[in-house]
Amino acid sequence: MTWLRRAGIALVVLLVLGGAAYWYYVADGAVPAQTSYKTDIAGWRQLVSGDTSQSPNEIRIEFVGRDTMPFIAVQGGGASKDFARTRASFQLNGPAGSVIIDSTMDKEIAAKAQRGDGATFDEAAYGRVISAMGVAAHVAVTHEHIDHIGGVLRFPSPERLAERLVLTKQQFEGLEHSKGIAIPPAYAAMAHLDLTAPTRIAPGVVMIPAPGHSPGSAMFYVRLADGHEVLFLGDVAWAISNVRTPAMRPRFVEQFFMAPENRAEVGDEIRALYDLSKAEPGLVMIPAHDDAYIGELITSGLIKPQFVIDGP
Ligand SMILES: [Zn+2]
Repeated sequence: MTWLRRAGIALVVLLVLGGAAYWYYVADGAVPAQTSYKTDIAGWRQLVSGDTSQSPNEIRIEFVGRDTMPFIAVQGGGASKDFARTRASFQLNGPAGSVIIDSTMDKEIAAKAQRGDGATFDEAAYGRVISAMGVAAHVAVTHEHIDHIGGVLRFPSPERLAERLVLTKQQFEGLEHSKGIAIPPAYAAMAHLDLTAPTRIAPGVVMIPAPGHSPGSAMFYVRLADGHEVLFLGDVAWAISNVRTPAMRPRFVEQFFMAPENRAEVGDEIRALYDLSKAEPGLVMIPAHDDAYIGELITSGLIKPQFVIDGP
């Protein structure tokens, strides 16, 4: 065999290996055909069936931070384009008081967590999130990652928040991964909800265990007083296209750019959400970080910009 022929074979082997690695780490977004994850919407509805007059009547949002990431890091096999990532907090308002879902993070944490020169942080919006948490009936987070729970950890008077904070056992135990941010003693001392089944946490609001992205990941089913139904996905999906395609995050992101997630569990959840979206087209799913899609939901009137801060 000539050296040229050997070099040629070596090149082909490298290309095949490289192609396989590229497929495995970047291009494979396939979700399983079957799922063991249960999206029991009939059960969720049942849990809040008696709440009609006490249910939330509006959803509000604060955009605290924004940055961009390549869409190929959001979705395996996704197009080569930028994905605008929002860092948002949601406020559900109604006669029973308000429920805050996700607390975002303060400026200092954001400076480390957000990426790129174009990253922005809205100090006034974060101030409104903290003020709203101060008077909310309940504060909960979709999971224990720092861009969602940072505002809880940095809340100025944790002992005042603890009595209204819904922190699950799974989220508290997962907190050790939260990058060295101190955990206030009040959150260690409080009762932690052992979230192993969908649980009503407030009128019209059901917290649903969805471990995978993190051990404490959860979704929130909300039935508004007017009958609209919403499912907050947290980071089970970063973009609505993860559900609509359906397609998962690529492995290179799961393994090298975040606290490693359980791909099998997330895959089951994405499949289940895709199936649920076909069965229940009226149910609006809200991924935590999809700036463009959340913008559409504001335009449609489902979500209103800016929190209102009323006394309890
Ligand atoms: Zn997140």
